[in-house]
Amino acid sequence: MSSSVNQKARRIAVLGSRAVGKSSLVIQFCENHFVDSYYPTIENTFTKTIKYRGNEYTVEIMDTAGQDEYSILSSHHASSVHGYVLVYSIASRSSFDMIKIIRDKILDYTGLETVPCVIVGNKSDLNIQRQVSQQEGKDLAQQWGCPTVETSAKHNENVAKIFDILIATIEKANTPPSEEKGACVIS
Ligand code: GDP
Ligand code: MG
Repeated sequence: MSSSVNQKARRIAVLGSRAVGKSSLVIQFCENHFVDSYYPTIENTFTKTIKYRGNEYTVEIMDTAGQDEYSILSSHHASSVHGYVLVYSIASRSSFDMIKIIRDKILDYTGLETVPCVIVGNKSDLNIQRQVSQQEGKDLAQQWGCPTVETSAKHNENVAKIFDILIATIEKANTPPSEEKGACVIS
């Protein structure tokens, strides 16, 4: 049997400091449960089908071990990746600062001015320990021209939304400007 013409493959990398909940988000999304202790250095790829605008996308989600200011972005994390989930914990200021460093590394590596990404403030259930306001997340998203969402992997809040809005963002980025209403193309 030939494969469906509507079947599209998309590759997503999940990046962020250690312990912000990257694995928990991916496992909650793909396997519908919350893991309390997942081995921190495991890198794993999960696959899930997402429907967006009548198309089925086979989404390969790369869960990375996590980055710090010294880690070098590997080609594995940057080539043939269509979009990025940049995760911080709302209870960790340093993890919020880290996603700025990671994005800079992605732009350096790819030589692009912008890449499809979504900013994710995880652990929204830990509001009492909050170090990063919702407004700061929104301000950063506005600066980068990308969407943002606060999530709780623990309570399964907004987890599916991450991937829905990222697929939408990737598709928007892949749409030639001439197809967008009102776009001005200078040739
Ligand atoms: P990773 O290193 O970024 O992959 O982080 P993990 O997914 O391994 O999670 C690190 C720790 O944070 C674990 O103890 C998780 O149970 C916990 N955790 C992950 N997501 C949440 C969340 O949304 N809320 C709370 N309260 N804890 C979380
Ligand atoms: Mg992990």
